[in-house]
Amino acid sequence: MTQRIAEQVDVLVVGGGMVGLAFACALKDSGLHIVVIERGEPPVFESLGMDCRVSAIVLGNQQILKGLGVWEHLQHDAEAMRSMKIWDNQNPGGIRFDVDEIATGGSIPDVLGYLVQNSHLQQALKKTLLAYDNVEMLCPATIKTVEWLNDAVYIQLEDGHALSAPLIVGADGGRSWLREQADIGVYTRDYKQQGIVANVRPMLPHHGTAFQRFTASGPLAVLPMNDDLCSIVWSQFNDDVERLMGLDDIGFLEELNLTFGPVLGRIEEVGERAAFALKAQLAMHVVRPRLALIGDAAHTIHPLAGLGVNLGLRDAMVLAQEIVDAKKYGEDWGELSVLKRYMRLRMPDILSVMGSMEGLHRIFTSQFPGLPTLRGLGMKAIGNAGVIKSLLMKNSTGLSLPVPKQIS
Ligand SMILES: Cc1cc2nc3c(=O)[nH]c(=O)nc-3n(C[C@H](O)[C@H](O)[C@H](O)COP(=O)(O)OP(=O)(O)OC[C@H]3O[C@@H](n4cnc5c(N)ncnc54)[C@H](O)[C@@H]3O)c2cc1C
Repeated sequence: MTQRIAEQVDVLVVGGGMVGLAFACALKDSGLHIVVIERGEPPVFESLGMDCRVSAIVLGNQQILKGLGVWEHLQHDAEAMRSMKIWDNQNPGGIRFDVDEIATGGSIPDVLGYLVQNSHLQQALKKTLLAYDNVEMLCPATIKTVEWLNDAVYIQLEDGHALSAPLIVGADGGRSWLREQADIGVYTRDYKQQGIVANVRPMLPHHGTAFQRFTASGPLAVLPMNDDLCSIVWSQFNDDVERLMGLDDIGFLEELNLTFGPVLGRIEEVGERAAFALKAQLAMHVVRPRLALIGDAAHTIHPLAGLGVNLGLRDAMVLAQEIVDAKKYGEDWGELSVLKRYMRLRMPDILSVMGSMEGLHRIFTSQFPGLPTLRGLGMKAIGNAGVIKSLLMKNSTGLSLPVPKQIS
């Protein structure tokens, strides 16, 4: 029998992206020894001097980040989203959501959510963690092998370092290496589309409005960022992406203006562009004995409502709470019975958001005869029906979604 000599820690986290770091942050006061293993920071895609990978953080999650002490490192770079305008390019009108139309337990929030650059959120999470000795980050570090034993999981790094813990958490993104090692398959819906992202400068100020225009190929989101710049996420079928990415800036702006229309005057400048494949994906198992998947490692969705990382942040908070509770009651937090509690709490939210994104994508991309007219009528109906509109808006702000209790 081989004797394993490994450093014993309490939780191993694979992936130090937004979700993995948020999970570590949620456990910073737990007294547990957490080790985050990050293979190397992904490149920042700069466009007009800003990261062009941005996230709309819904109000519910902004409140969680505030509670964790992360928001104070981020708030100066975050742009408030005060209203949202959604419309279809085949129908005039559309829906407009304003901040004063939503009340949360009697009070009216100042904003619907915030737009943040992904790299800034990651930096803010890291800054928060600096003050905590119980959270270690190994970066760059490559895991060579992982082995699940009865009472622990054991990993060996390329540099020879060995670690073991009662639980390993996969926060290593949509193409999760850890998920693959655990032999967990995924249900996939390939949209055969990519999201073109870039920062742009329109002629007119955005006044904190997020715009979403649905076209036959999918949505074009124009999101408010600092200095009156906007960040675009333009979903297009693969052939069109190749063509659009091949255009020079003048040609690209021409097509962009044609699709978006004149709401913000002419879009005058565009920075570097990047394109990301769009897939909806759900892991066939989100937990196994001594393994839990969170964030994109567990699920990815179409970015049309900007909810991907928001779902991941909620996974991180719920799993952290279950681990803290297990510790308090003397349970082994790597046991399947504990991890299943995390899974049961998260699945309704994950499945409902995945289902809504699929439904919206189908409704807005379908050219089935008569559907564009129905869509237009639907938009008008939603625009006029206060209750439905308020429900839609609460989903967009994350205020109707289960907010995990503050980790204690
Ligand atoms: C075009 C586009 C626009 C989007 N817009 C929004 C939005 O507005 N709002 C929103 O909520 N979501 C949005 N999303 C989704 C969001 O970007 C993702 O949900 C989010 O990045 C997931 O975070 P994560 O930490 O789970 O994974 P990732 O961001 O993929 O991070 C995974 C980390 O793990 C590391 N890693 C990978 N493999 C290993 C390994 N073997 N060992 C160690 N480390 C490893 C990687 O280097 C990385 O740092 C968008 C997505 C796209 C494609």
